[in-house]
Amino acid sequence: MATNPLHDDDGAFLENFLESLLAAANHGDDYALPWIRRIHQHGVTKQLARDLNSRLSQWPITAYFSFDAESTDFVPKYRLPKNPPDLGMDFIIAFHIARLLADGRLDDLKRCEECRNYHVRGPLAKWCSDGCGSGKRQRDKRKRDRERQMML
Ligand SMILES: [Zn+2]
Repeated sequence: MATNPLHDDDGAFLENFLESLLAAANHGDDYALPWIRRIHQHGVTKQLARDLNSRLSQWPITAYFSFDAESTDFVPKYRLPKNPPDLGMDFIIAFHIARLLADGRLDDLKRCEECRNYHVRGPLAKWCSDGCGSGKRQRDKRKRDRERQMML
């Protein structure tokens, strides 16, 4: 795990993190599941923000005032200390969950109607995978076929 959580700040990293986070939650992981369950059940509440912030506030950032050549003005800037402490999983998870929420990547968080896994496959998706969707459709078809048989 990177010591500087900002060092991977591109969309691909966040997308992979989201995938791992959901997979971990779906396996009952102690770090991932409580956050995912809360966000799924209650959305982003003030209490959720407070709980995220209680982790995020452990991050030591140095703020300083510096001349910026681009804007040709003095602007506030931030940097990590030279030897940032290892803040551990609790912090890392909260930090990236905050980024996912800010990016709207958890807006479509749902549970699969077939296997109950959490997923973010889009606002209309009922299932976590094509496999779960076709399993459900096959069962429905068999049920319809049985009902049709009984009516004959
Ligand atoms: Zn599923």
